[in-house]
Amino acid sequence: MSDTQTPAPAKLNPATMARQQVELAAKQLDIDPGVLQKITATKRELTVHFPVRMDDGSLRMFTGYRVQHNDTRGPFKGGIRYHPDTDLDEVRALAMWMTWKAAVVHIPFGGAKGGVQCNPKEMSPHELERLTRRFTWELIPVLGPERDIPAPDVYTNPQVMAWIMDTYSIMHGHTVPGIVTGKPLELGGSLGRFEATGRGVFITASEAARHLGLNIEGARVVVQGSGNVGGVAARMFARAGAKVLAISDSRGGVHNPHGLDVERVLSCKNQYQCFISDRLEASDITNAELLELDCDILIPAAMECVITKDNAPRVRARIVVEGANGPTTPEADEMLHDAGVFMVPDILANAGGVTVSYFEWVQNLQNLLWSEDEIDSRLSGIMRKAFSEVLAISHQKKLPMRTAALMLGIDRVAKAQELRGVYP
Ligand code: GLU
Repeated sequence: MSDTQTPAPAKLNPATMARQQVELAAKQLDIDPGVLQKITATKRELTVHFPVRMDDGSLRMFTGYRVQHNDTRGPFKGGIRYHPDTDLDEVRALAMWMTWKAAVVHIPFGGAKGGVQCNPKEMSPHELERLTRRFTWELIPVLGPERDIPAPDVYTNPQVMAWIMDTYSIMHGHTVPGIVTGKPLELGGSLGRFEATGRGVFITASEAARHLGLNIEGARVVVQGSGNVGGVAARMFARAGAKVLAISDSRGGVHNPHGLDVERVLSCKNQYQCFISDRLEASDITNAELLELDCDILIPAAMECVITKDNAPRVRARIVVEGANGPTTPEADEMLHDAGVFMVPDILANAGGVTVSYFEWVQNLQNLLWSEDEIDSRLSGIMRKAFSEVLAISHQKKLPMRTAALMLGIDRVAKAQELRGVYP
C-alpha cells in the first residue's frame, strides 16, 4: 500500500486537549458563560518569521511564537521552548496551562508561552545566541517586566535567558533583570530556581505518597526525562531513600530493577551526553517501555502526549506525577483514573518552576537577595498548600485531581475577571 493510501494517525492536538480539560472542569463550576469564554480565549498571539546568520555564512529563516493567554491576575508569564516540533497550537495550549498553573499556586501572574521551531542540538552556541537575540528583538513590543516575563522551557537554559535579558536591556538603555526569570545567578537569577520544578515535583509526589500511606523511603520511582525537571527530581528521590528504577532522555534510558545509582547516571549523561548502560550496571530501555514499568511513582518529565489511550492500560504505577506539561491525553487520563492511579496533574506538579520564577522576579524588582533556605521553605509552603487545596476539592466533589486542580485555577481566574469587569 502506498503512503497516500495509509492516512497517518491524527497528531494529538494539545490545544484541543487543553480545551477539553477546561470543558470538563467548567461543568463543575458556576461561571457566567461570557466570563468563561473570555478567560479561555487567547488574548494575543504573535507569530514571527526571522532570519539568522548561520556559522557557514548562510541566512536561515526561523519561525517563533509568543502566545499571551491571559493576564487578568497579573503580567503574562511562561517559558520559551526551542524544539523542531513546536507549533502555534502547542504554544497555545502551553500558554493556557500557564494561566491555570499560576492560579493554582496563587501567584499573581497570568499565562503565556513562547517557542521557536529549531533543533538546538544541531546548532552552535553562536547560532543559538543570534537566534535568541533576534527572536527577543521580534518580541520586544509585547515583552516587559510588568507585561510579559519569559523563562526557560524545553531546550532553553539560563544562558539563553541571559541573552534575552541582555538584548532587552540594550534596547532599553539600562539593565532590566526583571524581564526574564531562570537567569544565571550572576545576573540576578534566584538561588533554587534551576532545581525548582524538580523540587516541586518531589514535594507534590511526597504529599501524594503520604496521602496514600506510601513511604518514599524504598518507593520504586521511574522518571522519564533527565533535564532540570526529571534529573533534579530523580536526585531528590534517591537522596530521600527511594529506588529510582529508570531514567531516560529523548533517545531512551537505563533501567535497573534494584535501583540505579542516580548520581552516576546523571554525571555520565553530563559527561558523555548519553547514558552508557554498561558503566551504570543497568540495561537499556526505550521510552515506551519505561512508561510501562512496574513502579510506585511514575514521573513523565519530558514532552506532552506520551501517555495515550494506547499505552495507558499498561501503565502500572500507583502514582503519576506530571513533571512535563500535558504528558497525559484526556482519554488516557480517564483510563488511569478508572484504574485507580493517583494523578498529580501538571498544573500542580510542575508549578514549582513558575513559583520560584515569581520569587526571582520579586527579588529583581526590589533589588533583594533571598537565601536558598528562604526560597525552599517558601516553595515548599506554597506547593503543599496547593496540593491540599486540590485534594480537598477532589474529595469534596469526588472528582479526579486534574479536574480539581483545573477547577481551582479556572475559578480563581474567573473571580478575578468578574472583579475587574469589562472595559469600557
Ligand atoms: N517553563 C516552565 C513551566 O512550564 C516555567 C515557566 C516560568 O517560570 O515562567 O512552568
